[in-house]
Amino acid sequence: MNHHYTYSSPNVIKVNYNFPLKADLDRQSESVIPLENYYDCTVKCEYCKTNFEFTREEQKYWYEDLKFNLSSFPRLCKSCKKIEKELHNEINYIQTQFLKESKRKKVEEYLDKIIKSYGFIPSEFKRIEKEIRKSRTKNCN
Ligand SMILES: [Zn+2]
Repeated sequence: MNHHYTYSSPNVIKVNYNFPLKADLDRQSESVIPLENYYDCTVKCEYCKTNFEFTREEQKYWYEDLKFNLSSFPRLCKSCKKIEKELHNEINYIQTQFLKESKRKKVEEYLDKIIKSYGFIPSEFKRIEKEIRKSRTKNCN
């Protein structure tokens, strides 16, 4: 029995062992236990909790072309992955702008806009938001 999948990710909920795709071991990045076959598996997205497929072909591409470590596994479905990437860019923008004292008002408006459009505040934002609110209170006093 191949325990690779459940071992690599707690989010794997189903593995279809009926259709193996032979791995090219020479192309995998080095690991203690090489993976001889890839199998389609179903993974639960960490953000939205919907199930998505991590296919045999995708795995071959990840581990043989992109040379990802065999223990790396997708955490997010494609749409959440896209949102995460966007948020990451937004966070970088905010952090750069926040360093400039004169831009704080603008940053605060920007932050409100983002929170509205995404409907939630990522943890990195929370820290920045707290700093902004704190600095505003200080200015009022
Ligand atoms: Zn998702």
